[in-house]
Formats: sequence, structure tokens, C-alpha cells
Amino acid sequence: MEFTKFAESVKLRRVHDGIHNILLFIGEDPEREGLKETPFRMIRSWKELFSGYKQNPADVLKVFAEGACDEMVILKDVEFYSHCEHHFLPFFGKVHIGYIPNKRVVGVSKLARLTEIFARRLQIQERMTAQIADSLMEHLEPLGVMVMVEAVHFCMTSRGIQKQNSKMITNAIRGIFLNNIDTRNEFLQTIKGGF
Ligand code: ZN
Repeated sequence: MEFTKFAESVKLRRVHDGIHNILLFIGEDPEREGLKETPFRMIRSWKELFSGYKQNPADVLKVFAEGACDEMVILKDVEFYSHCEHHFLPFFGKVHIGYIPNKRVVGVSKLARLTEIFARRLQIQERMTAQIADSLMEHLEPLGVMVMVEAVHFCMTSRGIQKQNSKMITNAIRGIFLNNIDTRNEFLQTIKGGF
């Protein structure tokens, strides 16, 4: 126990020193008042921002047979906040998830939790989109899944390229959605329409 605590404090000290060095590298004085506690604050916020590594989609996706329908279920506008693994900069936006049940459904809040699990890691948008769709296919076993993600990337909008308003859109299409254009259109119409 004591050793675990010690090992943990050595690890924290290393991360702290790493951030301290980064502050020096960008031309800052890590000892000035406003920055003194910054490494610890960053470590605390990273624990939350990257908490997805410690979570497993299987624990979140409890499925129910009761109340299952065979029509498309859609959850749109699930906000997420993630970090691009190429630049360690935020990207964020909305996830839209649609699936066609096969005698099993999942609580709607679970779809939002699933999004969090994959968003709170270092990501690329394409992979995050696919992971949400694939884990639903695996654990819910629906007839099909379609996931659309629209996001703004800081590595694009805040650096040289300066495309302030450009959004990246990615899709993952699985099962029945793949060969049925009407099903895909139903999903797309629903997420575009307001209510
Ligand atoms: Zn990037």
C-alpha cells in the first residue's frame, strides 16, 4: 500500500515536471503566481477529460427486451468534447445515433454515456464514429446502426489554416443501413429536421 502510494507520487511528480518544462518551452515562467498551480490543475482536468480509457462500453450498454420496437430509434445532438491525437487539441460537436432494434433496446442515456467513453480519449473523429457504431453492433446486436458526427477541430480553426466555420462530418454505417437507401434517408431526414 505504502509503495503504491509512493509509486503514484513519483508518477505525478514526473507529469508535473513535464508540464513545468512545457511551460518553460513556450517562453513562460512556471514559478509566477498564476502558473504555480497550473500543472496540478491540468493533471486534475486530464483525469476527467481522458476518463474514457478506464471505462468499458459493455458496462454501459445494458439492453432490455421489454418495450422493444422494430422501428428506427434515433438520438440526435449528443454533445461531445474530445481531443485530436495528432495535435492534442480539442475537437467537439455533436453525435447522432440511429439504430433498428432486433428485439432489444438500450436506455437512451446509455447512448450518450457510450459517446463519452470514446470521446474522453485521444481520438481521431473517424475512429470515434466507427467505435460508437461497432460497439452498438456488438453489444446490442441490432439490425443496423448509423452514426454521424459533426465536429469543429481546433487544430484546423486555431492554427494557420484559419477555417473558422468548417465542420468535419463522418459517418459509420452498419448492417441494414448499408444496403437500404430509404433507411439511411430516414435517419438523415430526422437528424436534419427540428422539432
Ligand atoms: Zn488535429
